[in-house]
Amino acid sequence: MGRLILELRQGGVTDSQVLAAIEKLPRSLFLVGPFKERWDENVALPIGYHQTVSQPLIVGLMTQALEVTDRHKVLEIGTGSGYQTAILAPLCRRLYTIERHPALLKDAESRFKKLDINNVTAICGDGTLGWREQAPFERILVAAAAPDIPPVLFGQLALNGIMVVPIGIGGDDQQLTKVKKTRDGALTEDLGPTRFVPFVDGVTNN
Ligand code: SAH
Repeated sequence: MGRLILELRQGGVTDSQVLAAIEKLPRSLFLVGPFKERWDENVALPIGYHQTVSQPLIVGLMTQALEVTDRHKVLEIGTGSGYQTAILAPLCRRLYTIERHPALLKDAESRFKKLDINNVTAICGDGTLGWREQAPFERILVAAAAPDIPPVLFGQLALNGIMVVPIGIGGDDQQLTKVKKTRDGALTEDLGPTRFVPFVDGVTNN
């Protein structure tokens, strides 16, 4: 485990709370088949349905950029395996997470149960619509690449809230972006290149 944490530090994750959360929770619990053994490699790994669990460095950088506290209500789009959710949940007050693949969501939910994570509400749905009934959110994490700041989600972000989202279409041209909502609009900061699956409209059964 020491090696992974060292790589995260070298990659810019310095927040000790975030590093501790990643150190405590083996990614193997979120992987299936032969990929289970590769949990501590700092790479993205397949979770089925053409989706991947993020590289631990990216999970670390996104969680850190969110500047989350136990007072925050957080929205996450793209539950996937539930790994990012499980890292984030202990750091915030309440976490709402949306996944469009029912089968992925089902597995993620059973992992939350097994890990005794009780402040997460997960639904299967279209994350581009956000979660209107629970808005506004102090923090929003989008784990899929959008062409631009997703407008509906930005609308559901509280004033002075922070959204972290990979922006760019096509695999090679994405920037992890931190967006702060101010009275004058969106204040953005680039956090470096990244590679996420696309943020797509609608729910799917395949
Ligand atoms: N954070 C996840 C990995 C995310 S991969 C983990 O830790 O494992 C991106 C996920 O976003 C995929 O599971 C994909 O199905 C989901 N996704 C893409 N577009 C979506 C949308 N519009 N609404 C909800 N989920 C979406």
